[in-house]
Amino acid sequence: MLAADRPARGDRAYVTLVTNPDYALGARALLRSLTLSGTTADLVVLHTDVAAEALAPLSALGARLVQVDLLPTSPAFNEAHARDALHARAAFTKGTKPPFHTPLDNFAKLRLWQLDYASVVFIDADALVLRNVDKLFAYPEFCAAPNVYEGLGDFHRMNSGVFTAKPSEATFNDMLEKLDQPGVFWRRTDQSFLQAYFPDWHGLPVVCNMLQYVWFAMPELWSWDEIRILHFQYEKPWQQHDKADRLRVLIDLWRAYAGDGPVPDLAGLPAP
Ligand code: UDP
Ligand code: MN
Repeated sequence: MLAADRPARGDRAYVTLVTNPDYALGARALLRSLTLSGTTADLVVLHTDVAAEALAPLSALGARLVQVDLLPTSPAFNEAHARDALHARAAFTKGTKPPFHTPLDNFAKLRLWQLDYASVVFIDADALVLRNVDKLFAYPEFCAAPNVYEGLGDFHRMNSGVFTAKPSEATFNDMLEKLDQPGVFWRRTDQSFLQAYFPDWHGLPVVCNMLQYVWFAMPELWSWDEIRILHFQYEKPWQQHDKADRLRVLIDLWRAYAGDGPVPDLAGLPAP
């Protein structure tokens, strides 16, 4: 179920998920950003059966690689959450998911509840930590930021790209039971499930999970002085996509972290 390539270092870890080589590119930039943030926590990549060449750069950055299986969900669950079925039943109208995004894989995030740490912060592989967020390890389970990128209505929903959790096998087993019920459909996969599982989720400030569309859709919310985690929801910065021109400043920032050279001083970046 879980096979780690080395023991844990300490009892706190940042955790991300990689189920294919594309998300390994994202994870490399994320890990580099975490290291540059000066964190003292362990770095963990949960991964499925991904080619060793794609994972090697993640080990090189000090990450603990933990191989996991996808969740043992039922055939009916897997069919309902297959990419085509999910896109047909709950179309994405605000943005486009990349071709390498498999909705069912998202649920493997829940494996972090099986890890051997007291406190974890999960961060999607398509995010960058721009300032140290180690204080989040002292926050309770379950904290996440609202899914804000269009308007006030977005505050009803949380975004599962950044959240705090306390691993526990009992919680994991309870989640599995509640996840795979007959006829169930989690339209935004782990995100819908986690919001339902933790209806009293604690809100993190939006700067702990600033979604890239805020840059053009809600520019008044943008503040380089405050953003801690930048999250490239929908189209990814390592893809060719039709919003790339509008997101150029953010994509260039991601590329700096994805490379091996220096990263820019946030204070010098332009406002939207
Ligand atoms: N993920 C993955 N493989 C997939 C889909 C998702 O490894 O096929 C992981 C990866 O860490 C990714 C996260 O799950 O960042 C959530 O997916 P994504 O970030 O693409 O969703 P979005 O933020 O666009 O809603
Ligand atoms: Mn994401």
